[in-house]
Amino acid sequence: MSEVLQNNSAKLPKNTPQMRTIDVAVVGGGIAGKACALGLAQLGLQTIQIAPDLGQTVPAPQGEQWGQRIYAFSPSTQKLLAHLQIWDAVDHSRMQPVRDMRIFGDRGEKHDQLHLSAFEAGTPQLAWIGESNVIEHTLDQALRFQNKLERINDAVENIQVDSDGATLHLANGSTLRALLVVAADGANSPLRSELGISTTEESYLQSAVVANWICTNAHLETAYQWFLPGGDIVAMLPLPNKQVSMVWSTSPENAAELLKLDQAAWTEKFSSIANGEIVKQLGSLTLNSTPAAFPLRRVRASRFIGPDDNPKVALIGDAAHVMHPLAGQGLNLGLRDVATLLHILSKRESFRLPNDKVLLRRYERQRQGDTSALLWVTDKLKKLFSASSGTEKQLRNWGLGLVNRSHFIKRRLIERALGDADFE
Ligand SMILES: Cc1cc2nc3c(=O)[nH]c(=O)nc-3n(C[C@H](O)[C@H](O)[C@H](O)COP(=O)(O)OP(=O)(O)OC[C@H]3O[C@@H](n4cnc5c(N)ncnc54)[C@H](O)[C@@H]3O)c2cc1C
Repeated sequence: MSEVLQNNSAKLPKNTPQMRTIDVAVVGGGIAGKACALGLAQLGLQTIQIAPDLGQTVPAPQGEQWGQRIYAFSPSTQKLLAHLQIWDAVDHSRMQPVRDMRIFGDRGEKHDQLHLSAFEAGTPQLAWIGESNVIEHTLDQALRFQNKLERINDAVENIQVDSDGATLHLANGSTLRALLVVAADGANSPLRSELGISTTEESYLQSAVVANWICTNAHLETAYQWFLPGGDIVAMLPLPNKQVSMVWSTSPENAAELLKLDQAAWTEKFSSIANGEIVKQLGSLTLNSTPAAFPLRRVRASRFIGPDDNPKVALIGDAAHVMHPLAGQGLNLGLRDVATLLHILSKRESFRLPNDKVLLRRYERQRQGDTSALLWVTDKLKKLFSASSGTEKQLRNWGLGLVNRSHFIKRRLIERALGDADFE
């Protein structure tokens, strides 16, 4: 049953003869959809956000137990959230700045490591680590006060596009009309399929096991990542209060085994992998959440706009691209889609409607490079560290050491990791 969360005028009854056309409909209630809806309403565009999970605002995370979904937020995300005037409202006591990153190869040799430092790069921090819900909660608070925004708690069942805009049919049988539709409906994007936008997809045959730990050693505001023989990757990301968030990418079979471990078995596990380095760096680790596993894959939509001949829909976030979490960049990339779309719409010539194909093509062109580069790098790194031949093993470990000695390459790497979000 659909429910209008604000202002009843948006809900159009079935078969309304004179259907009102709003400026933009944002389909999806994840962080990308929320940030985009907020930005569009702030631009003065009449916006409707539709998703089946908008029924309740996300509560502010509190207490000692931290949420399961912990993300690395890059400076480009910080810039977007500041532009949307919500960064200062975020609960910073639950956000950990990252000053250093240490990445270790899989031979256990001292020189097979890469150290990236905020100090060396001349930036206050490389990223922030925090709960998804901290950002979602703050976005929900801001969205409540937008008078240009209406929110509908329902799923979109199908879309019809014509030369003037798009008509959305909702699960409750009602219909909406918008000049522009933003598809923020996630990795399996029903709108992407409806529009016939093809994808290239590959399963990594891996799952990511995530869990939070309290450590006895100070984490030194450092994000650690260990490549293990056989292709597993273990990241330990720093959190406030001497905690770390683990992302362990491994085979689905091993993920299932890891989910069964109790505290004693985890302690044993940590001391036996990565030559005991995890324990050496972080001390003993006490489980502070229920571990969970997520399957990993790569997805890339062939187009960021659709349909081909008469685009009225823009894809953002996971609807456009999904990547391996080894670089912690999936959502950050999605929020750069949002930043670019907002920038293009805010700078549009006065004679152009928000669904003008020149604007949509501009959006697609501007997002291609960043997306291709990040998908390529994460994919190649993942595969290089999964390869089992002696040559590849030597190459990847030698590569880490080599990059570590090159100030120039390190700066370029950091620049890419920081990302850039365009506004003014
Ligand atoms: C283990 C792991 C760790 C990660 N770590 C990081 C990290 O550190 N940093 C980072 O940047 N990224 C990270 N990511 C990636 C990040 O989780 C995703 O990129 C991000 O959550 C995608 O957000 P989104 O808003 O695009 O989509 P989603 O959050 O998937 O939201 C999709 C929305 O669409 C709605 N929807 C679906 N179908 C319909 C429909 N028919 N009608 C209406 N609404 C619909 C859904 O209800 C939902 O609200 C990680 C991913 C994994 C798996």
